[in-house]
Amino acid sequence: MSSSYGGTSAFDRLRARLDGRPHVCEECGRVDDEGEWEAATTGATVEYRRECPSCGTEHVHRYRL
Ligand SMILES: [Zn+2]
Repeated sequence: MSSSYGGTSAFDRLRARLDGRPHVCEECGRVDDEGEWEAATTGATVEYRRECPSCGTEHVHRYRL
């Protein structure tokens, strides 16, 4: 069984929420307002990842679709 979301509106909404403000790394304190979140979905959830350009820490936000 598969389902379709009929577009990327949920993706776009969540991405806009994340991209709308600078990301602050809690490890090194770097403020990164230029990086992009990389989206991946399993079907039920979507994950946004980004790596701190300064210390390499990976940050993940996970949402239910
Ligand atoms: Zn960092």
